[in-house]
Amino acid sequence: MTALALLGGPPLRTRPFQTWPQFDQTEVDVLADVLNSRRWGGVHSGSQGESFETQLAAYLQVPHAAVVSSGTAGLMIALRALGIRPGDEVVVPAMTYVATATAVSLLSGVPVFADIDSATHTITGSSMKAAISEKTKAVIAVHLGGHPADMDSLSAVADRYGIPIIEDCAQSLGAAYNGCQTGSLGAIGVFSFASTKNITAGEGGAIVTHDDELAARIASLRDHGRPLGVAGDHPELGWNLRLSEFQSAILRAQLARLNDHLAAKATGAAYLASKLANLPGLSPVPMPTDLDPRVTAHGRFSFAFTFDSETFGGEGTSGPSVSVFRAALRAEGIPVSLRDLVACPDEPIYANATSRDYSSSRTASAAQARAACARLVLLGQAAGSGLLLNESAELADVVRAVEKIHENRHHLRREQRQLSRIHI
Ligand SMILES: *Cc1c(COP(=O)(O)O)cnc(C)c1O
Repeated sequence: MTALALLGGPPLRTRPFQTWPQFDQTEVDVLADVLNSRRWGGVHSGSQGESFETQLAAYLQVPHAAVVSSGTAGLMIALRALGIRPGDEVVVPAMTYVATATAVSLLSGVPVFADIDSATHTITGSSMKAAISEKTKAVIAVHLGGHPADMDSLSAVADRYGIPIIEDCAQSLGAAYNGCQTGSLGAIGVFSFASTKNITAGEGGAIVTHDDELAARIASLRDHGRPLGVAGDHPELGWNLRLSEFQSAILRAQLARLNDHLAAKATGAAYLASKLANLPGLSPVPMPTDLDPRVTAHGRFSFAFTFDSETFGGEGTSGPSVSVFRAALRAEGIPVSLRDLVACPDEPIYANATSRDYSSSRTASAAQARAACARLVLLGQAAGSGLLLNESAELADVVRAVEKIHENRHHLRREQRQLSRIHI
């Protein structure tokens, strides 16, 4: 039996997987074109930004798209466009990237945390309903990992209470639900183009909507309160959250590659899900057996599975902790995120009343979110890797690495106390 790389043995894999982000000569050329044009920023007709907005709107089948400087900027603009005022409550999932909640807090709103579904790690209509109060002014549905949230149940509750849905599509560009793209299903959809996302310009974001009035407010909020196409006056209060022309030009090139990437990642993820589901203690999110037919395309930002130490250990002895398991996988040459995850209500800004930036929030329920965070293992772009683009023959090394760790689990357990001091 070969020793684990974490314990000084040879790593199972030394060759790299596909990298992330991906680019080719197109990006190099368009950057030079923008440089030479001497139009590097601003909002003007015929711009790279306008051109990308048209392409994105067509891809998503929505009439309006506006590029902005980041996903967080997009969420703040969306909330402000919907009229969120200080003290207003906005329902957000208890498990998401923290920016979903901090966008609310930065506008002096109050995020109200609603639990996630344990199989898909997304918010549902029933958890949203349990979080609603008289102060609720919006809900942000997050398509976490690229898995569309249950928009049928969310929309039913949202319609009944007259609450608009903002879709946080930072991780779900290209995902579809009942045949419709995420971002086109709620009042406003928000995308991020930060380094790990499905298309990227290093930073960036976009806001999409079907509503003409909201689109006008969004355009003004991102550009100093200046209505689109109007020079001079600033009749509204706005930020400068515009995107540069370099970034929009790169995003045009990236969007052209999106569907090929989605197809390759779907194949890679299906392979990993089918193999890893057979290993003790590993449960892909969702399990291949409970795929929802309404999820007509998955965004595959990440490949997520939960790790149950008891089941992995077997025979009544627990296996390694999830942190040690992740470190062991990384040591074998598998790019996995080593970050310990916490549910949003447990972030210091929401949990620690003595924290300088303590922000008010309310937690309706977070038990499933906490359980998921304590057991989650993330592969793919979430770990800064393009591995889901690799062929199955390469991805077989992920399965082999888990098997190697399983065979050596008793050694790992013996070393665990030592390891938690050194590596974690
Ligand atoms: C990345 C991300 C954001 C924030 O996007 P930025 O572009 O980094 O500001 C918001 N929500 C989710 C779910 C994200 O993954």
